[in-house]
Amino acid sequence: MMPNPPVTTLISAGLAFPDPTGPPRRDFAVAVTGARIVAAGPSAEVRAAYPTASLTGGAPYVMLPALVNSHDHGRGLGTLPLGVRDDLLELWLPGLWAQPPLDPYLAALYDGLLLLRAGVGTVAHSHNPRDWRQIDLEAAATIRGYRDAGLRVAFHPPLVDQNPLLYAGHADFLASLPPALRRAATPFLATPPLTRDEYLGLCSDLLHRFHDPLDHTVHVQLSPAGGPWCSDELIADAVAFARSHGTRVQMHLLETRYQRAYAHQRWGVSFPQHLDAIGALGPWLTLAHMVWVARDDLPLLAERGVGVAHNPSSNLRLRSGIAPLRAMLAAGVQVGIGLDGQALDDDQDMLRELRLAWSLADLADPGAEPLPAATILALGTAGGAAITFGPTAPLGRLAPGALADLVLVSRDTGPGGWALALDRPALAGARTDQPLALLLRGASRRNVAAVMVGGRWMVRAGRVTTQDEAAVARAVAAELDRPATTARRELAATARALAPYLRRFYQHWE
Ligand SMILES: [Zn+2]
Repeated sequence: MMPNPPVTTLISAGLAFPDPTGPPRRDFAVAVTGARIVAAGPSAEVRAAYPTASLTGGAPYVMLPALVNSHDHGRGLGTLPLGVRDDLLELWLPGLWAQPPLDPYLAALYDGLLLLRAGVGTVAHSHNPRDWRQIDLEAAATIRGYRDAGLRVAFHPPLVDQNPLLYAGHADFLASLPPALRRAATPFLATPPLTRDEYLGLCSDLLHRFHDPLDHTVHVQLSPAGGPWCSDELIADAVAFARSHGTRVQMHLLETRYQRAYAHQRWGVSFPQHLDAIGALGPWLTLAHMVWVARDDLPLLAERGVGVAHNPSSNLRLRSGIAPLRAMLAAGVQVGIGLDGQALDDDQDMLRELRLAWSLADLADPGAEPLPAATILALGTAGGAAITFGPTAPLGRLAPGALADLVLVSRDTGPGGWALALDRPALAGARTDQPLALLLRGASRRNVAAVMVGGRWMVRAGRVTTQDEAAVARAVAAELDRPATTARRELAATARALAPYLRRFYQHWE
């Protein structure tokens, strides 16, 4: 029997940004066969080349590469809905222990649907285990959840092997607590019951089962969770393992001023300088947050090819600050954007996150020319893909050979007039980036009409095609209805009781 010839689909749009840093294209189309784009260009030409192919989209849409969320945690709901109030990272983290432990498959599925509906086709998931002894099961369930939703995922199994509650001064801190609270705090002072060898064994197993460096559906990467929480040995082992297995490493770094102080107190140099001294900096590494990076260290990061995942909402909500995005870009550091499960409106709206990154970057350096809109779109697409899957992953651009991950944004709706003004250059002045600027200033998740990932429509007419969204939401609601265990209520009470002591401790830290 002859195999069926491959089916080709055409997707067209009145306006498109196929290359985030290139000019806008009018009446643009792509042809998709299987998972890849096989042609891209003026709509009439692409249609003529594939006269029998089905056609989707049309003049009322704007086409973008699908967005890449370069750092997140896939909790399903935000941490505030799960009972953890925003505060300084160092005080907020203990509260995570008391979150309702949503089923990891369901959390990833629900979060994946939220992200898809926001135009996100790829997520980097930094895992927060519910139960360290079951991390292998949680990892598999989480990866399955995102894949069943329809996203690509870079999965980061974490490890922490020091300073789980405080960066230093444990004895003095414990002595400052009332005896009952000191006893109750014991679980917060324990590092996870996983040795380095067990961790590398877990990574090896997950790589073997899931890692897909050809089609980039799933990447398994290493994650010493963050600077102060990981020994040099753990970081060095993780880097060596990642390099020998052709995968990447993602860590939290310099999220808070106290983490910056930690490095200087411990080694007399900054975190980037110390990581460089132990051989950890290289093109395999992505660092999340980097709010407190010294500008002097940016050329080193650029030279080593280190990526940065910028998390503007999270950095505001956890009172960390504003990362020096403009300086990073000026130094040549590759940057992507991550929601970190902490979007300003708790809605995983990636377009708004780009908007926030844009305004904060310009705010932080008011004397400079405003950043071009194209720079911001690149952070959410090609830049994000480079720091998530590596610089050669064919994502973040709509061109022949690239994976067919794209978004159609509707311009039929939108308060503020951005959609009306989009096609009226006479109103808009001479700047060629005006259409993209209007889009990035005005569009949000409610304008995302369709999302294709790997040649499959995951969202059409504003609805996900892969799952019954209402049924998934009902399943999450049912999980939330389960009563909290006594142990979890005690952990929540202890985290709350520790907060004023932690606040006082860090007030005197620097
Ligand atoms: Zn994070």
